[in-house]
Amino acid sequence: MNSSLNSARRLLEGQCAIVTGGNTGIGAAIVEGFAEAGARVVVNYVAEAEKADALVKRIRGNGGEAVAVEADVSREDQVRTLFDAAIKAFGGVDILVNNAGLQRDAPLTEMSLDDWETVIRVNLTGQFLCAREAAREFIRRGVNPEVSVSAGKIICMSSVHDVIPWAGRVNYAASKAGVAMLMKTLAQELAVHKIRVNGISPGAIKTCINYDAWMTPERETRLLELIPYGRIGHTRDIAKAAVWLASDESDYVTGATLYVDGGMTLYPGFEDGG
Ligand code: NAD
Repeated sequence: MNSSLNSARRLLEGQCAIVTGGNTGIGAAIVEGFAEAGARVVVNYVAEAEKADALVKRIRGNGGEAVAVEADVSREDQVRTLFDAAIKAFGGVDILVNNAGLQRDAPLTEMSLDDWETVIRVNLTGQFLCAREAAREFIRRGVNPEVSVSAGKIICMSSVHDVIPWAGRVNYAASKAGVAMLMKTLAQELAVHKIRVNGISPGAIKTCINYDAWMTPERETRLLELIPYGRIGHTRDIAKAAVWLASDESDYVTGATLYVDGGMTLYPGFEDGG
């Protein structure tokens, strides 16, 4: 992780975080950023166990604490098991990052019900199940001022496609728009318990999920036309935002979505007056 994340060191000291889908891409960068900031991290994964194990090993090698826990976030029983494992390993949970997500792209007329339901079940229902379990734990334990001024933090990974329609991916766009309102409603409902809920909406970040969009120089050039800031995002761009949102530095921020997108949501087609 680059040195600028080191300046966030200790911002999350003594806290325990669960990062769903934490073994790859954005989730893995958040895991590393959190560990550097002093958190003990539960790396949730559903596939590619070896990547979760390697990440845990790296964090432990750097003096941090982490465990890998397999669970499908769309399965109620497995989400409970995930939280039980986190509490057993670290004594509690202070931060949840609802990061796990997937795409099953197809034009509407060819999209199967399974394509639709799989994406909604993982991207939206999975966030509901994990947030519910986290809120139960945060409310049970309440504020521990030695750890944080709030009882807990939930970060919901959304996408610029919670506001930008995306042809050929109606399941994904609908799931992320759902996440945006899930996040706001939970923020409203849970504020009384001193629980903060916020969202991050990444633009184009180089990971496996959008490999097709940047795999050739031509495609990368086309993608850059959509990004006023002139570069594709790095996973650490999202990790830095997540560390801040999870820390007391962002206390008083709840119900907000941080668009970390190099300006992708600024209607770049209108740069020259439209
Ligand atoms: P990724 O494919 O590397 O990460 C997704 C992770 O979720 C994987 O580890 C995958 O195994 C896991 N996952 C999928 N289904 C799961 C399930 N049922 N239970 C547990 N884990 C499951 O891609 P990424 O780009 O790192 O995506 C992370 C998040 O960021 C996703 O929610 C994605 O929608 C969002 N996002 C990514 C981008 C981007 O440009 N990369 C842009 C906007 C939003």
